[in-house]
Amino acid sequence: MSELASYAVDDANSRGRALVEPRPKARSEFQRDRDRIVHSTAFRRLEYKTQVFVNHEGDLFRTRLTHSIEVAQIARSIARALRLNDDLAEAIALAHDLGHTPFGHAGQDALNECMRDHGGFEHNLQSLRIVDRLEERYGAFDGLNLMFETREGILKHCSPACARNLGELGRRFLDGRRPSLEAQICNLADEIAYNNHDVDDGLRSGLLTVEQLESVSLFARHAAAAKDDFPRLSERRRVHETIRRMIDALVTDLLAESARRIAAAAPRTLDDVRAAPALIGFTDAMRAENAALKEFLRTHLYQHYQVLRMTSKARRIIHDLFHAFVADPRLLPPQYQRMAETESGTRATADYIAGMTDRYSIKEHRRLFSVGGP
Ligand code: MG
Repeated sequence: MSELASYAVDDANSRGRALVEPRPKARSEFQRDRDRIVHSTAFRRLEYKTQVFVNHEGDLFRTRLTHSIEVAQIARSIARALRLNDDLAEAIALAHDLGHTPFGHAGQDALNECMRDHGGFEHNLQSLRIVDRLEERYGAFDGLNLMFETREGILKHCSPACARNLGELGRRFLDGRRPSLEAQICNLADEIAYNNHDVDDGLRSGLLTVEQLESVSLFARHAAAAKDDFPRLSERRRVHETIRRMIDALVTDLLAESARRIAAAAPRTLDDVRAAPALIGFTDAMRAENAALKEFLRTHLYQHYQVLRMTSKARRIIHDLFHAFVADPRLLPPQYQRMAETESGTRATADYIAGMTDRYSIKEHRRLFSVGGP
């Protein structure tokens, strides 16, 4: 592999860990971060958390675990092609969704409503809270004690009020500075991954049709090219061939445009990157096409009545659980009761609910509310 660019993050220019530890023997610091994330409890739970479809609805849909692995794959490829730190990109990508509640965005919105008067709930901040505090795996510290740049990449966005509470990590939101290029890559790799797999899952579930998707230029163009090259493919296989080409087109565009911006800004150090405008991005034309695809998914998939039915059920489950625990914290498992005493009952409840998988929260709801239930 070619050498890292001078403005890539590496062990030498990193701001390091909150608690200083001996250097790893056979790995880089960022490989160690990635390994800590893979071994965490929150990472394993991603297998049973969903984005659009509830976990038990079908075995073939993406879960947050497979989504995170897809994001890591895309982010690693882009980072490597730009001579950036692909271990860091991988670590951020694998951790980026750790803080998600059950039931995807519906769950997060519901928990945020419940927490409105208690500091709110935001999955992105929750991911950071997990790696900084909630994981209990090491004798010497709470959380995973990750490198500054990994934590910086996990914290994608944050309000000024919350940035002020985060010290060094929050400063860039107040100063208008950017995170590392590796972190910028993960944001866009996330978008490339979910737009494309939502097309795939949407078609597979029957909630979307190929005819509908042909109104989206990015899909239509690649579907036509796939048909020209392979006129006799089954529809299912042509869809895969189309999605493969869409991902490739997005990544290729991103690489060319980012290389152009980096050449124009000519950063020499990581600090130059932080002071520059966003250097990782699509061309304007591709950004517009990608936005059209997102808009299509919002209208036709995320607001499909069958998805909305699930969303409304999810909302009810989260609200019911939250209010039951806050009304009587003795119903919480002992570990969260202790947290309710030291921190606050609402925050401990939010942590408990956010950590649940889809099916665990459904079971817990049944345990609390169903008289004849298990
Ligand atoms: Mg994501």
